Amino acid sequence: MWAISEQGLHAPPVQLLDRACPHCHAVAHITPVAVPSLAELKARKPRRIGAVFHCDACGVPRFLRFSVRRIEADIVELAGPGQEVERVAERFPFSYLPRPVERLFREALLCHAGECYNAFASMCRRTARAAFADLGETGRLKMYDTLEEIRELVDLDDALHSKLREVLFGTDGDDRLPEFDPDAAAVLLEVIRDLLHQIYVRRRKLERTLKMRRFFARESARHARPRVVGSNTR
Ligand SMILES: [Zn+2]
Repeated sequence: MWAISEQGLHAPPVQLLDRACPHCHAVAHITPVAVPSLAELKARKPRRIGAVFHCDACGVPRFLRFSVRRIEADIVELAGPGQEVERVAERFPFSYLPRPVERLFREALLCHAGECYNAFASMCRRTARAAFADLGETGRLKMYDTLEEIRELVDLDDALHSKLREVLFGTDGDDRLPEFDPDAAAVLLEVIRDLLHQIYVRRRKLERTLKMRRFFARESARHARPRVVGSNTR
C-alpha cells in the first residue's frame, strides 16, 4: 500500500517500483526525493497529490500523481501505483531515418505517448509527406503497396483501412482528417512503424551489412593474395 506518514512515503515492495523510464527506457527502480508532508496533507485534504522521484538508472526526475484514498490522524493512504505524468514514448531505430522524417516521427510518437491521438494522426501525415518528399513518387507508390500488404496480412476492416489511407496518402487539408480514438491510433502506430521499417530501416540495415561484408571479403582476399602468388611461384 502506498501511504504517507510522519516517516515519509511508504511504498509497496521494491519490485513494484521498477518502471520503464521515459528518458533512458531502462526498467529501473525510482527513489522518492520530494513528497508532501503528513501535516500539510492533513491541513489541505487534497483529493490528488504529486510526488517527485528520480530514476536510479539515469538520475532524471520522474513525476507521479496519486489519488488520496483516506486521511487518518497518523497516515494518509494513497491509491497506488501512481500515474506517471510523463508517458513513455515508443522506441524506434531513428538513426535509419532521414533527418526531416526522424524529427516529425519523434513528435508523432510524443503525441501518441501523451494520448493526443488526433495530433498523432496529423504528425503521421506530416511524417509520411516528409518521406514522400525524400523518396519521390516511386517511394510513395511503394509505401502505398506496403499499406495494402499490411491490410491483407492483418485483415484490416474497410473503415479503418480508409482512415489510415486518408491520413497517410490523402490530399485534403488537415482539418478534414478523420477522428482518431485510442484503438484507431494504436493501429496507425503499428502501421506507420511498419511502413518506415520496410522503407528505410530494412533497406539501410541491409546496405550497411552488405557494405561491411564486402569490405571484409575484399580485405581477406587482399591478405590471401600474396600467399597464393607465393605458392604458384615456388
Ligand atoms: Zn531513466
